[in-house]
Amino acid sequence: MTTSTGSGQGLELKNVNKTFADGTTALDDINLSFPEGELTALLGPSGCGKTTLLRIIAGLESASTGTLILGGSDITTMPAYQRRFGMVFQSFALFPHLSVEDNVAYALSISGVDKTVRRKRALELLDLVKLAPLHARRIGELSGGQKQRVAIARALAQEPRLFLLDEPMSALDAQLREEMQIELRLLQQELGITTIVVTHDQREAMSMADSIVVMSAGHVEQTGSPQAVYSSPRSSFVASFIGKTNLLEGVVHDRQVEVAGVRLTPSSPPSFINGARVTVGCRPERTILHTDSQSSDQFIPASVKLVRDIGPVREVYLDADDRQLICELPSAGATRLSPGDAVRIEMPSEALHVYPRQESA
Ligand code: ADP
Ligand code: MG
Repeated sequence: MTTSTGSGQGLELKNVNKTFADGTTALDDINLSFPEGELTALLGPSGCGKTTLLRIIAGLESASTGTLILGGSDITTMPAYQRRFGMVFQSFALFPHLSVEDNVAYALSISGVDKTVRRKRALELLDLVKLAPLHARRIGELSGGQKQRVAIARALAQEPRLFLLDEPMSALDAQLREEMQIELRLLQQELGITTIVVTHDQREAMSMADSIVVMSAGHVEQTGSPQAVYSSPRSSFVASFIGKTNLLEGVVHDRQVEVAGVRLTPSSPPSFINGARVTVGCRPERTILHTDSQSSDQFIPASVKLVRDIGPVREVYLDADDRQLICELPSAGATRLSPGDAVRIEMPSEALHVYPRQESA
């Protein structure tokens, strides 16, 4: 089947700020580009400004200052209905009294498309989201996953130039969410449409996106491919928000960092002055557990709290320097470990990241 949705276009945001009437600053100097045909995830904790940014992109909210450029044209002041963007809301916002087909065809009827064409187009889209057999059903007779497919088909009906989704999976249970993530990604790739997905779920962002924009408190913390953001988090916030990270506090001495009385040597020397208070981070799968009593005092002392065998991996929860850390080991051939055992942990130089300490954390 050939369902053309028109090619998506790239979007640029320049110096976008938003302060609401009550004085709340929701966005602080956002500069981003969303490349044509790619799926970008806006990721961050609740309240960091994701929905506000998506609504400004959609034209449902205006920026206090800043510029939006779509495919080379300035759309900053263009009204929402002229932008021709498809939007899927967290609540789906379907029309409960209309059939599945009429929900999808609705947007076309307002733009004056002929009835036969409307019907054909709605059925093509429903086929795309695997709902064609249910076209005559009422919305109330659908499951959560089916409603979401209707919302997606409806958003695509007008051949949108941008496809915007705000927490599209949040009403679905865990298993369905994962299925829909895969389906949505396949659909987006098939259509080649420029897409922005808002989510607070790092797994969802990692598994679907070409690139991730990590937001915190109204600003952009980091952008990059899922792999780049995971392997080189630029701040302790990103390191702990994207996946798990073992974080310990330290102080810089020359090219080393002293952590719990042990000197660690990061492979890229920290660019901090002597005496700077820093946070060091290392992923659980890169953190090495030493159990033999001879183990070197170059490693950080820790005690075992809990051991969890989860299929192929064993997670060991530890206390070290008043922090909880996790080591992820292969299950097979794992040594006996019991709560209270004294061990040492190694954060290898090449897996060690050094961040400025966020005193509030
Ligand atoms: P997110 O989608 O990341 O959870 P939002 O964009 O909804 O975050 O909100 C960002 C911040 O802006 C929050 O502090 C929120 O309370 C505030 N906010 C959102 N909408 C309004 C509004 N209409 N008036 C005042 N403050 C708002
Ligand atoms: Mg939101």
